Amino acid sequence: MKIAFFSSRQYDIDIFNALNEQYQHKLEFFEPELDDKYAVLAKGFDAVCIFVNDGLNASIIAQLADYGIKAIFLRCTGYNNVDLEAARKNNILVYRVSYYSPYSVAEYAMTLILALNRKVYKSYNRIKRGNFELEGLMGFDLHKKTVGVIGTGKIGKVFTDILRGFGCRILAYDLFQNEDCLRSGVTYTDLNQLFAESDIISLHCPLTPENRHIINEDAIALMKQDVMIINTSRGQLINTKDIIDGLKSGKIGSLAIDVYEEEAELFFKNLSDKIIQDDIFARLLTFPNVLISGHQAFFTKNALDDIGHATLQNANAAAEGRTNENSL
Ligand code: NAD
Repeated sequence: MKIAFFSSRQYDIDIFNALNEQYQHKLEFFEPELDDKYAVLAKGFDAVCIFVNDGLNASIIAQLADYGIKAIFLRCTGYNNVDLEAARKNNILVYRVSYYSPYSVAEYAMTLILALNRKVYKSYNRIKRGNFELEGLMGFDLHKKTVGVIGTGKIGKVFTDILRGFGCRILAYDLFQNEDCLRSGVTYTDLNQLFAESDIISLHCPLTPENRHIINEDAIALMKQDVMIINTSRGQLINTKDIIDGLKSGKIGSLAIDVYEEEAELFFKNLSDKIIQDDIFARLLTFPNVLISGHQAFFTKNALDDIGHATLQNANAAAEGRTNENSL
């Protein structure tokens, strides 16, 4: 298949070109996101390959159909950014990567907890300036702390395994209980109990219309004083304005996010000499107890290899007009 890659970076080019020797599709890489302005780049291709912030609404999908695009490949798990109904109407097959190393994201969620709790980001900067004081660096033992895990699919399950190693008590909420988690001693509760009893809350569910802003003013009101919140899933699971209020009042003790509601305007770009126009994001940057990264939880060599193989296998299926386990 002749595939146009959007939102591509050098690491996409390197990994996909190397793996493609074994698949022999024709790949071309474009840096811009696939939007109204750049959709025209897809002319002459059979398929497009997109990432988390390429918003494929009905009008862009209709435009792609006009250009003869037969398939859309998401090189990620979440698919909240594609209008699947519009794709179906236009006979465009859509595939995602339903499985890649869940360790990448689960280990990163733990990285955020440890860095935030033990304030590694502060001591790193202090020591560079010759300040060896401990004032303000105190953390807490994770041992025996209660961690609430929302979503116990592939990533959430690995995350609970990691937490068990630290001796945490684990509460979980999911629409379906995971047998492996139950066997390993995870306790499923309703959301209210999870909010009320957790010292740390970590999000590992997809973004759906039902759970948008699952962390909002009402949820925060139920939480423990000083709760730590971790989001490596999707930005819109959190109402950012409400979380800022919770941070200002001191109810939320700390926050680490790898995803942000309006991240499409910011993430994956070097904006170091630009003025940030998003005042809500700028406010988040001012808190000493907030750690932000730019959607890097998935970014391990193992995960990228898995994503590359799955995407090129999806292209094999699309070339034969087949659906597979990654079809949406
Ligand atoms: P998965 O499909 O294996 O598991 C998701 C789990 O969430 C399922 O058990 C599902 O039942 C549950 N769920 C669905 N709706 C829910 C709700 N309203 N409340 C509670 N639970 C709900 O997915 P996964 O591979 O574990 O990935 C989870 C999410 O992590 C993805 O959807 C994506 O948003 C995010 N993610 C982020 C990154 C990153 O780099 N930051 C990378 C990969 C995935």
